Amino acid sequence: MIKAVVGANWGDEGKGKITDMLAEAADIIVRFQGGANAGHTIVNNYGKFALHTLPSGVFYDHTTSIIGNGVALNIPVLFNELQEVVSKGVPAPKLLISDRAQMVMPYHILFDQYEEERLAGKSFGSTKSGIAPFYSDKYAKIGFQVQELFDEKTLLEKLMSVCSVKNVLLEHLYQKPALDPNAIFSELMEYKKMVEPYVCDTSLYLWNAIKEGKQILLEGQLGTLKDTDHGIYPMVTSSSTLAAYGAIGAGVPPYEIKEIITVSKAYSSAVGAGAFVSEIFGEEADELRRRGGDGGEYGATTGRPRRMGWYDCVASKYGCRLQGATEVAFTVLDVLGYLDEIPVCVGYDIDGKITTEFPTTSQLEKAKPVLKTLPGWDSDIRGITKYEDLPENCRKYVEFIEEQIGFPITMISNGPGRDDIIYRKR
Ligand code: GDP
Repeated sequence: MIKAVVGANWGDEGKGKITDMLAEAADIIVRFQGGANAGHTIVNNYGKFALHTLPSGVFYDHTTSIIGNGVALNIPVLFNELQEVVSKGVPAPKLLISDRAQMVMPYHILFDQYEEERLAGKSFGSTKSGIAPFYSDKYAKIGFQVQELFDEKTLLEKLMSVCSVKNVLLEHLYQKPALDPNAIFSELMEYKKMVEPYVCDTSLYLWNAIKEGKQILLEGQLGTLKDTDHGIYPMVTSSSTLAAYGAIGAGVPPYEIKEIITVSKAYSSAVGAGAFVSEIFGEEADELRRRGGDGGEYGATTGRPRRMGWYDCVASKYGCRLQGATEVAFTVLDVLGYLDEIPVCVGYDIDGKITTEFPTTSQLEKAKPVLKTLPGWDSDIRGITKYEDLPENCRKYVEFIEEQIGFPITMISNGPGRDDIIYRKR
């Protein structure tokens, strides 16, 4: 049986914590898209970790962690992460890497930097981890799958050909030093040594695991609004962030994904550029940022301060619908305990017309938030384990949002730890 844990919003919803928590009852955890451009922060009995490539299930010794074919695999980043985890006392994870996963090449990172420099003020706010150049090459069919490391002659020939194309751009568009295919080849041979013990046909492994009745978790990165097709294009990421893509990026039958746990945070945050209708500024935003998440809302990978906003029912309803949410995990609710009143965005005003449906980008740029203010609960809800024990206004906040988004909130996270969770009946 497969469950997906995915984001309803702009990412950073707390998927890592929910995955880490659900991984206790899982056998296999799979990353199926994205790269090391975003991260999950996980707090557990081994300490605090920022994972970028390893699935959030690596902390248990009964689980197998899989890097699926859909991932943008940065091999040195993965190995640094493995070493970091092991050095903090976590048992060496059982890791499998898809032979069809493609590699982030050293020049993808360079092209990302050069393109951001070229665009200057008009940039997409890339994290410069090479993700956009990586996926461009993948779909232009000049990417490199992990399995290509094992055929050295063909690999070198292909590298020569790809570098000759890249060098034209480097010389004439970017005025930067040319690539040396032989140097890249030597680097790839180092990559080969690192990945060799882990590479296999992971879709076959998963197929067999499904037949054996194993519990599989698909862990999404970012959220619906960053999806290439359904997000706030072009301020999106370069891979699909939707649960449906899990079938492709892990290589499993779509009908096996039975549960889609869609994670949504009790307020909004976003990184990078792009329309953010319920955004707040100034002291109000600073305070929420300071108190937010676990130690403030700053990017797990980049350390950038996140943009902050009130909960956006319009964006979240859309986010849950496109994920195909079977249930919603509502996270970081404890952080709102300091507020007397909590505004919630319940509609968008676009040229004087109110809508509750999430529009395309050009309309979105014009949208103004329609806010409704709910009473706060003015207390710390950490440590509460039963829904009935939450303050009445806190329950009302959850129930109001559940009604607005139209998907059942079955889990409420009231702290960063594994046990900080309140289950609610469906
Ligand atoms: P992800 O990318 O979706 O996994 O999200 P991030 O890890 O970037 O951001 C979530 C942050 O919130 C992390 O620092 C978590 O430790 C923290 N967090 C997760 N759930 C909760 C919660 O319920 N309460 C609090 N206070 N922090 C949480």
